[in-house]
Amino acid sequence: MRLNTNESPFPPPQGWRAEVARLVASIDWNRYPDREAHALRGAIATRHGVDMSSVFVANGSNEVLQTLLLSYAGAKRTVAVFEPTYQLHAHLARISGATVVAGRRSSDYTLSSEEIQRVVSEHSPNVTFLCSPNNPTGRVEAWGNIELLADISSGLVIIDEAYAEFSERSAVELASTSGGNVVVSRTFSKTWSLAGLRLGYVIAPPEIVDMLHAVVLPYHLDSFKQAAGLAALGYVDEMNDRVARIVAERGRITEALSRLDVDTWPSGANFVLFKPRQIGGHATWQRLVDRGVLVRDCSSWSGVEDCLRVTVGTEDENSAFIEALKQALEQSE
Ligand code: PMP
Repeated sequence: MRLNTNESPFPPPQGWRAEVARLVASIDWNRYPDREAHALRGAIATRHGVDMSSVFVANGSNEVLQTLLLSYAGAKRTVAVFEPTYQLHAHLARISGATVVAGRRSSDYTLSSEEIQRVVSEHSPNVTFLCSPNNPTGRVEAWGNIELLADISSGLVIIDEAYAEFSERSAVELASTSGGNVVVSRTFSKTWSLAGLRLGYVIAPPEIVDMLHAVVLPYHLDSFKQAAGLAALGYVDEMNDRVARIVAERGRITEALSRLDVDTWPSGANFVLFKPRQIGGHATWQRLVDRGVLVRDCSSWSGVEDCLRVTVGTEDENSAFIEALKQALEQSE
């Protein structure tokens, strides 16, 4: 059972699958796609109450982040992250040629306003990332921290909201105003059950969206993906229903973990980070694998030493995980 990559355990709605099969038959396959994905961007804009000129779409939010960094990072520029966080932010920044500076989160994985102020005043980063809810810790960023960063930063502020629908607060309201420096990235991979489609987007001030269109490859978003993504947006109720089930199961996992010999932290995402108190993280991970349960082994990552991250699965999968973890923690050498 795979509970290691924060995918949705549920397939997309049956109605969407049938619609996509019909759409495939009507695509003009001999023609290039709509280069600026007008229909899909329009539907995303409507969903967020912004203008279409504030939406850029790409092949997964990773490609969105890469395009932002190609546009605003690069050689002789500085990108700031607050660790532990999603490792791809620093990785993509380095690939762009930028220097990466890392601020630190506190031991409970919250971020202090002093640390934000220190990083911004010492390094004046051209780009700063915040991930909320944060991967791998699950923490939702304090609203005051997002406002503070937007306020004091002269560079671009990227709020990675890959898991936003699993929590309550979003920074989208800060992202679409012309002249602003905040952008918010989202994905279809988690809440929309469409990791296999590779579709993500950013809400940003229009002049930033123009820049991204200038930098990304021509026709980067194929016709099928545009049509399939647009169709998915017609299933908001089904998406909300799946999110509600995952949030309820997240509560059940958190509650079960609180009765075991592990530390955990509050999660606003579709995963929970935990740390066995008596046994090493990697040893626990192996014991879970031996019982047929694969979780993410974060035990060697800086700042989350000995921690494991479990993705919320179906009810049965979560029960099996909890039982396997109980046995793993009780197992004698
Ligand atoms: N941001 C974060 C914080 C993530 O955890 C992930 C997925 N692991 C992504 C972005 C990338 O998602 P996508 O599938 O849209 O590229």
